[in-house]
Amino acid sequence: MGIKNYTIVTLGSHSALQILKGAKDEGFKTAVVATPNRIPLYKSYPNFIDEILEVKSWNEFPKLESELVKRNCIVIPHGSFVAYLGMDENKEMKVPYFGNKAVLDWEENRKMQRTWMEESGVKVPHRFKRGDKIDRPVIVKSHGASGGKGYFTARNQKEFDEKLKKYNEEKFMVQEYVIGVPLYFSFFYSPLTKKVEIMSIDKRYETNVDSLGRIPAKNQRGLNIEPSFEVVANIPLAVRESMLAEAVSMAERVVETSRKLIPEKGLFGPFCLETIITSSEEIYVIEISARIVAGTNFFINGSPYTYLLYDEPMSTGRRIAREIKNAINLNKLKEVLD
Ligand code: AMP
Ligand code: AMP
Repeated sequence: MGIKNYTIVTLGSHSALQILKGAKDEGFKTAVVATPNRIPLYKSYPNFIDEILEVKSWNEFPKLESELVKRNCIVIPHGSFVAYLGMDENKEMKVPYFGNKAVLDWEENRKMQRTWMEESGVKVPHRFKRGDKIDRPVIVKSHGASGGKGYFTARNQKEFDEKLKKYNEEKFMVQEYVIGVPLYFSFFYSPLTKKVEIMSIDKRYETNVDSLGRIPAKNQRGLNIEPSFEVVANIPLAVRESMLAEAVSMAERVVETSRKLIPEKGLFGPFCLETIITSSEEIYVIEISARIVAGTNFFINGSPYTYLLYDEPMSTGRRIAREIKNAINLNKLKEVLD
């Protein structure tokens, strides 16, 4: 079957515009599943969205599935999938899905994720287990949190104990707070070429932590402001070239390790290493996102890094569609779907 027989479909949220624009540029039919409040947004792009499939709420999605299967749809997951559909619905989805669903557990469970990072030989912030003495600043993160919601920081044991009493989350992790700059490296691993490509680099614009510095410390005194880390937008970055080599090498090790740990195919497609770089230029990985991240949305027209490799605008969304197209042409579609 040629690529014209396939429809690329995703949920209307997160990076859907980028994904569908990329799919159309590669020659696919496209569709978006959307709730009523988002219909006007997706209707305004008839140039690359062929069809809008309306659902009243996300829990209606399973009802659409048999129709999507019949129409040779391929689903591209993004950051809203687990949040909107739930983990079980994601795993049980019958529509062909770009990526390896087995990675979902390794991404969601912070302990498994940590094992994966440690075995990849990347630096991770120190983790404090229950009962450990808090001997430096820490950040407390709830499990499966999205967009930095529900975190708190503490400077020492006393502050940690006080704040923990008021904390409502049941499952969380206590991590060393690394002082440095956050940098999000987005990559794409192709199981067809067996290469890691660097797609783009960004940082998040987080409220309120990114604007605390606008008020001098002396004016903050007494205001009792707590930093929070909710992401609002993303800002593009170009890093020192000397750091690129290390970032790519880390990404390669993460992919290689995933092939040993995660059945059957390990991690492939888009992923992001979320890092903090310290003043001694150490790169700490605070988290991995095993899918397209919203920071790539800035680069719908390509990034400086994809420009080095492609003579045309290559977004992460388009790179996904390109991989599917190449797989179809090589008769290897099964290798990129789950
Ligand atoms: P863990 O075995 O590290 O996954 O921790 C299990 C649960 O213990 C977590 O979900 C928290 O509810 C709690 N917990 C984890 N780390 C700490 C810590 N440093 N101090 C107090 N409670 C913790
Ligand atoms: P995450 O949900 O892990 O991507 O974290 C959201 C945000 O919290 C990051 O962008 C950072 O601003 C901050 N953050 C998370 N972990 C750490 C850490 N270990 N040290 C310093 N800042 C952190």
